Amino acid sequence: MGKWRRRNYQLGGSRALTYPSDITVGEEASVAGSRLLLIDPRGEIDENDLEEFMEKHVEPVFWKWWEQKKAAKRPKIEGIMRPMEAEVEKVLPVQPQDVNPGPPVYLVSCRHCGGQIAWRLDLGPRGGCPYCGAWLQLTV
Ligand SMILES: [Zn+2]
Repeated sequence: MGKWRRRNYQLGGSRALTYPSDITVGEEASVAGSRLLLIDPRGEIDENDLEEFMEKHVEPVFWKWWEQKKAAKRPKIEGIMRPMEAEVEKVLPVQPQDVNPGPPVYLVSCRHCGGQIAWRLDLGPRGGCPYCGAWLQLTV
């Protein structure tokens, strides 16, 4: 395994990146994905197999994992209720404090990547998945 950050540069009318020097590449590469790409730089694995694996195993698992990781990092910004014991180091007011309701929200799962989306009803019934970019329509 390796990890790299590569520059996306302009190549004619397309965008391109270069492979790290220690990666073995073939004449062609096979690629599958949308928001994330799965690449066989040797082109030995059929792109249909890459796509099937990406859809079944990578997209659903990755986006759930990633969302949970983000939520754990900044629980207060994400607005997730934490157990009271998580706040014991602070002196909390005894009386509950008033909070005003935000816009109405439905919790939905993206059909494409499985990501959990808090769908704000006031923004309309159609929108792109914030994780994979899939175009979604809310049907109630
Ligand atoms: Zn999605």
